[in-house]
Amino acid sequence: MSFYEMSFELTNKCNLSCLHCLRDKADMRSYIPVELFDSILKQAKSYNLQHIAFTGGEPTLHPHFSRIIDTVVKYGYTYHFVTNAWNFLAVWKILNDPRFPGRLSKLSGVSISLDGATEKTHDYIRGKGSFKKIMQAISILKIKGIDISVQITINKKNFHEIEQMAMLASELGLKRLFYAHLEPTDRAYEQDLVLSPQQYREAEQRVERLKSVMKIEINFSLGHHEPLMFFQCRALTMYSPNVDYKGRLTFCCQLSGYTDAPEQELDTVADLNTVNLYDAHKMWADMIHKFNIDKIEFIKSGGATDLDYFPCFYCSKYFNKIDWIQKYKDDPWAKDYIKTKHRHAEKKHISGKKDR
Ligand code: SF4
Ligand code: SF4
Repeated sequence: MSFYEMSFELTNKCNLSCLHCLRDKADMRSYIPVELFDSILKQAKSYNLQHIAFTGGEPTLHPHFSRIIDTVVKYGYTYHFVTNAWNFLAVWKILNDPRFPGRLSKLSGVSISLDGATEKTHDYIRGKGSFKKIMQAISILKIKGIDISVQITINKKNFHEIEQMAMLASELGLKRLFYAHLEPTDRAYEQDLVLSPQQYREAEQRVERLKSVMKIEINFSLGHHEPLMFFQCRALTMYSPNVDYKGRLTFCCQLSGYTDAPEQELDTVADLNTVNLYDAHKMWADMIHKFNIDKIEFIKSGGATDLDYFPCFYCSKYFNKIDWIQKYKDDPWAKDYIKTKHRHAEKKHISGKKDR
């Protein structure tokens, strides 16, 4: 089901500095202009798109967050947003404003990043006070009956809390719980957060067991080990196009603004400030086609390894996001990278005629 929803990184600004953050902090702070956002949503209507997702940075820090939500409501989409909850009381005032009932009626849920089953673990990763802010946000959302999802990014510091996390989510009465693998970053290595591939697999098996015994809905986010080498994820089936904080359509939200990447542009499809959504869509389809052809060639070459069954790890190599990993030469991910180092994505111009 392609083009079902669109995901927007409203801003790259964030009020936290989480140890495992994937986003490039060096880039200048930017926010999607409301006018551009409006224009994209208007064009998206012709796809009968249903839903808008907001990520960041911290999306609620967009200075015109209320206008952004009102634009979603104006075009009749539902929406949800991902948040670290630090800014939640201010956001709640906007959402709960009785003059704008659509802000709540179109809100399908809130997704909160919770990185530990205990205050100590979560705050170690996300900063002191974060856990309390999340519990406060959850209690407000629960009173209003709004669906709450939480996502935990598994790393060395919370690996032992995988089961405890499901218990906590269940006790809190949350709608669903997502587990995600940590995508490697230089800082995550420095902080000793990165698990081995065997531990990634162990985490997946433990989550699989939880799925069968817990009543709460449990999922593993994209990036886990796939049994098929030619796996087609949500990005590759164009289910949820991602627009970054500069207003550019990117190949996939997982790769967008990847910190310490030697080249940030390789996964940029088109600048929607200058290219209309339909032409950008065609460019994305071409890029996915090239990606798939290159992957078939890679498989044919016999060079694929066990770690290429982690599809996001494959992509991080393909789009040249993790070249720095070579300095951790004894690490299994780095060894694989050095062994299979390959890159097929090509640089291209992303500007175009202004015709949206
Ligand atoms: S992980 Fe999310 S909340 Fe944490 S610093 Fe990065 S963008 Fe902000
Ligand atoms: S990084 Fe690659 S495999 Fe992972 S979600 Fe994005 S496109 Fe799909």
